[in-house]
Amino acid sequence: MTAAVIDGKAVAAGLLVAVQERAAACSARGAAPGLAVVLVGDDPASQVYVRTKEKRAAEIGLLTRDHRLPASTDTPTLLALIAELNADPAVDGILVQLPLPRQVDSEAVLRAIDPAKDVDGFHPDNLGLLMLGTPRFVACTPQGCMRLLAAAEVELRGKRALVVGRSTIVGKPMAQLLMHADATVTISHSRTVDLAAEVARAEVLVAAIGRPEHIRGEWIREGAVVIDVGMNRLAGGRLVGDVEYAAAAERASAITPVPGGVGPMTIACLLSNVVDAAERRVGLR
Ligand code: NAP
Repeated sequence: MTAAVIDGKAVAAGLLVAVQERAAACSARGAAPGLAVVLVGDDPASQVYVRTKEKRAAEIGLLTRDHRLPASTDTPTLLALIAELNADPAVDGILVQLPLPRQVDSEAVLRAIDPAKDVDGFHPDNLGLLMLGTPRFVACTPQGCMRLLAAAEVELRGKRALVVGRSTIVGKPMAQLLMHADATVTISHSRTVDLAAEVARAEVLVAAIGRPEHIRGEWIREGAVVIDVGMNRLAGGRLVGDVEYAAAAERASAITPVPGGVGPMTIACLLSNVVDAAERRVGLR
């Protein structure tokens, strides 16, 4: 079997067209969706992410406001900024780029964000609502994975799904979403005894580990759908996922490439969340 390639760039482009139309409807009511981006320090990768997010946001008609703070910023300063943004009616979404410098209490900062503006979906209130099956904001990467599965018309009901990785930003919400879609979900992590055996059972596999091509192609169940969240930069500069792509594509029925799979969806879902918030503000939702 040779897998169909799930084209994240194309799905993200389609989503952004819809998000742009919704943003225009908010603007027509005098409430252009506003995203505040908080970047602390000068980590080059974070700067690239933030620039890309702001560029995409501006392209589809969102107002972005940039808050760049020095690497020496302390927790009280950041909490004061969050309080200001929480109170600002023109700000629909607040994004604090992670990781924050070591001296900052990241948990306290993320918890200080008004849950109604928590477009990353990391606040305990939003994680709790997701667990209850009544989500407000769903974290962008797992949301993007679900949208890719929907675009590829993958039936999840009754399927054996495996999520490899249990982070709060990807693995845990991903497992919740798959469970709410009626899949039978297993979560693997670094203490899983026999990952190959778990992978071999999975009809739907979501890999979010952060280890280059850790999941071997020969482990993949024939006909499985593979969503590869991993983004690993090799020494030579090449970007690879957590799944051994070429070999996995020989066995899977559908697979996301890296790059061009989950990555483009994450930003598109972030902007969709910002517009969700603006729609709530103007009563369109
Ligand atoms: P993370 O917080 O480091 O979590 C990694 C998870 O993988 C942990 O739960 C860890 O288990 C598990 N793990 C580590 N080694 C393992 C092994 N040998 N076998 C099984 N599980 C193992 O990472 P993350 O933030 O979730 O990100 C995961 C990957 O996705 C990274 O490559 C990241 O760059 C990528 N990512 C991509 C996007 C995107 O937009 N495409 C967005 C976010 C993240 P323990 O819990 O036991 O330590």
